[in-house]
Amino acid sequence: MRVLILSDIHANLVALESVFNATVGRYDVIWCLGDVVGYGPCPNECVALMRERADLCVMGNHDWAVLGRSGIDVEDFNPHAREAVLWTRDVLTAENLAYLDQLPTKPVQPAMASSLLLTHASPREPVLEYILTPSIAMENFAEFSEQICLVGHTHKPAIYRWRLHNEIESPAGAPEQKHVATVELLRPQIGALLKLETSPTLRLIINPGSVGQPRDNDVRAAFAILDLEAKTWLYERVAYPIELTQNQMRKANLPRRLIDRLSFGW
Ligand code: ZN
Repeated sequence: MRVLILSDIHANLVALESVFNATVGRYDVIWCLGDVVGYGPCPNECVALMRERADLCVMGNHDWAVLGRSGIDVEDFNPHAREAVLWTRDVLTAENLAYLDQLPTKPVQPAMASSLLLTHASPREPVLEYILTPSIAMENFAEFSEQICLVGHTHKPAIYRWRLHNEIESPAGAPEQKHVATVELLRPQIGALLKLETSPTLRLIINPGSVGQPRDNDVRAAFAILDLEAKTWLYERVAYPIELTQNQMRKANLPRRLIDRLSFGW
């Protein structure tokens, strides 16, 4: 079973279609890590595609904010993000709002892969927390028991590897065995097939990056293909005609800053 992993599409239909074009015949199912909408100009089209094609999708903070339910306050968003959320709320159809409304706000374990957990932000704070450092990742490894947790939210591809080591300490007298956990941050190479080695003492938190608004200074849409049997992770990027998305954003009167940032990947 090969899984196309998408995250943070952010209503960027042109980017999403480019990912689909680049992956024809290369996956069996689609899992989406949230933030289908927000920032971008085509929320209805992107939600419709996820409704039709995604086998699993979890709730992102922008999806939640658009719904206007309690739990996330759009006033906590920066002014540009807030403007886009309010615009999105206005244009989404009732069916698409209903789809977002039923997305899970808690981490999800896929039926076909019990060693995996999916969440938008982090196991500890499923919709809100940014895992941007090994120390934040370390705290989150204590919050789940599966071998691998897939997250989005930061828009930056990353792999955090947790290891439990046995260390012998003998400060004075009898040697003492201690378990010591460490977390290291790996930056996955584009196009390189990564073997996912896991065990009770070796676990991973993996972020595929963002389809619709990358923030790692690479403007191309990011995604990954996870092979559940081969236990491999293929991290990829695909160029897309950014100016088409930017024109759609101008027509929708979305904030200038959100339009410009797509040209820089931040
Ligand atoms: Zn996002």
